[in-house]
Amino acid sequence: MFLREINVPVSSVRGVGPATVKPLATLEIHTVGDLLAHWPRDWEDRTEFHSLSQFDTRSKIHVKATVVAHDWFGFGRMRTLKIIIRDEAGTVAELVCFNRPFLEKQFPPDARVVVYGSFRYAYGSLQSSAFELEQDGTSPARVLPVYALAAGISQTQMRKIIANALREYGRGIESELPEPVRTRYQLPDKQLIVQWAHQPANLSQTVQARHALIFEELFLFEYAIGQRSLERRGRLPRLDTDTETSRADTAQPGPNSASVCQNSDSVPAALFPLQSRLIERLSFSLTPDQKTVLSELNNDLQSNTGMARLLQGDVGSGKTLLAFLAALAVREQGGQTAILAPTELLARQHADTAARLLEPAGIRIAFLTGNLKASGRTKLLEELAAGGIDVVIGTHALFSKNVRYHNLRLVVIDEQQRFGVLQRAAILDKGRESDPDDRPPNLLMMSATPIPRTLALSVFGDLDVSVIKTMPPGRKPVITHLAAKKNEERVYDFIRRELAAGYQAYFVYPLIDPSDSVELASATDMFTHLRERVFPDTPCALIHSRIPEDEQRETMHAFRSGKIRILVATSVVEVGVDVPNATCMVIEHAERFGLSALHQLRGRVGRGSTQSYCFLVFSDKLTESGKARLRVMHETTDGFLIAEEDLRLRGPGDIAGIQQSGYLAFTLADPIRDYEILLEARTAAFDLLEAGSKR
Ligand code: ADP
Ligand code: MG
Repeated sequence: MFLREINVPVSSVRGVGPATVKPLATLEIHTVGDLLAHWPRDWEDRTEFHSLSQFDTRSKIHVKATVVAHDWFGFGRMRTLKIIIRDEAGTVAELVCFNRPFLEKQFPPDARVVVYGSFRYAYGSLQSSAFELEQDGTSPARVLPVYALAAGISQTQMRKIIANALREYGRGIESELPEPVRTRYQLPDKQLIVQWAHQPANLSQTVQARHALIFEELFLFEYAIGQRSLERRGRLPRLDTDTETSRADTAQPGPNSASVCQNSDSVPAALFPLQSRLIERLSFSLTPDQKTVLSELNNDLQSNTGMARLLQGDVGSGKTLLAFLAALAVREQGGQTAILAPTELLARQHADTAARLLEPAGIRIAFLTGNLKASGRTKLLEELAAGGIDVVIGTHALFSKNVRYHNLRLVVIDEQQRFGVLQRAAILDKGRESDPDDRPPNLLMMSATPIPRTLALSVFGDLDVSVIKTMPPGRKPVITHLAAKKNEERVYDFIRRELAAGYQAYFVYPLIDPSDSVELASATDMFTHLRERVFPDTPCALIHSRIPEDEQRETMHAFRSGKIRILVATSVVEVGVDVPNATCMVIEHAERFGLSALHQLRGRVGRGSTQSYCFLVFSDKLTESGKARLRVMHETTDGFLIAEEDLRLRGPGDIAGIQQSGYLAFTLADPIRDYEILLEARTAAFDLLEAGSKR
């Protein structure tokens, strides 16, 4: 039986009463299988002893000592026992026994004891109040598991019930990893892994158990990715090619226009007539990368397997247009498109752009957010369900319960790193619901947060990946200046000159309102300051997430049209906002922002052909890592490089918010830290799938 199949309720384990079932449930532990798969988050090595003088190099130490004396302090009910101990090196320490007066009898002077605890200096002596104490020789040397806990259950209790579960149900657990994989990668069988994780005899067993569990987790993940890819595309994800091209295996009605997308390395796909017409009306021509990607999108849309594609392109590389072009193709095939954006601001901007680019072609567009007034909403939902709308643009409201589509065939998720897997699944379900054959809709995910390629391939292994590498022509890289807060006047002077030349500027702050606890400039305060003192003759506006949507919309509109010249903001303008006439971005307390946020913010300027500038204003108390981050921003504008640097500086665990957004709900594995294991696990999984698919 597999561990996860042990469905016996956890209450049947000895020591688990009704009072324990509750806290266990908050840890998602309901069955014995869950309990045994509650892996330790760490282990305490009690096979070695330390001296008391090592107290500050480790969080907890394990010491052999002799009780020297007892002492009491406080009065009445507050009277508290202190046990004075001395270790073999002669160091003396006090154990403060809050609520444990009974220790007096158990550990009289001269008793030989073993202490495990954390020590610190207080009132001139070495002290511990968080310790475990026992007679020397009571327990054998051992390694103890440390579990995540919930209110109502102690570490000791957790250890006890897991030990009980192991004794009562821990036999005959089968491995999910096939035997040849275990042999090849030298992994112990599951029975041993479970034993070594919960009751290790030494630290080396814990290391092996952990490694094997991480391998297993990543193997199952890669196996699922491989399987999805096989089902959808009839092949495993390709990991060696650069920009993948899925070949069309013809089924859908294709375009009949003669114009062909020029590109070098992929099969050129003909354009749909609506697409050609839009491209002709543009004031610019598509970049070579945009053409390649468009060809890939068209191929996907005409293939049997459909589209499941991640489009990566740095800020300002022109992804939005590609989404609209894809929507036109889908419209010609008779389907609807939903474009999902993470913020109202961005959704509104897309809707405006769509109105400009698509409506002249007769495409019916709608804008749907959570804030839409009830009457308008009902009408819109009816039209959406009846097929009177071709392209709907909005926020997560697009996949709320009462939204029905007539025939949703393309889902575009912009800034996809902002959405979690569940949200993505919810909108794909809308497409499946509206299809008579229950087919999933085409999926195009767009991201400007570059994910290092190696990682992207592993995590999005079931997706095709397109990359826009080149920017539209005429773009000049943004010139970035670092400025100390005390030199801010010079930054203001610079901005004045740019404003005089007809351009516009953003000022970004880390907070909306002033805060008592941190000394940071806030958008609200600085708005007043900038408007009244620094730029009294320039129209300024304030925008942040707590300003009502209508007002935000008006402000953005006024900024885009040039009526407002200075926009004071928080990081709400981080994603997607596109105002080419804005040439200056001033970010105050730049050291408070992460690298990828800074990169996104800087990407708000330099969107036209005029030279643009970014000022990173830092406070005087700049830390070393803060300095390092700002230096990276100063030296490069390459988003992929910045992402790699971000990863290196911040360490593993949270690249571009992948973890929080729930792509990777791993228990033990961390695909960045465990990248080597990930590669092995993927090879193992794909080898197995390959062997299976040949049979
Ligand atoms: P992002 O990839 O960050 O979403 P956008 O789609 O917002 O970028 O495009 C940024 C700007 O570049 C927009 O103003 C868009 O009209 C413009 N643009 C897109 N493609 C081209 C092109 N081929 N030539 C010139 N400008 C372009
Ligand atoms: Mg965008």
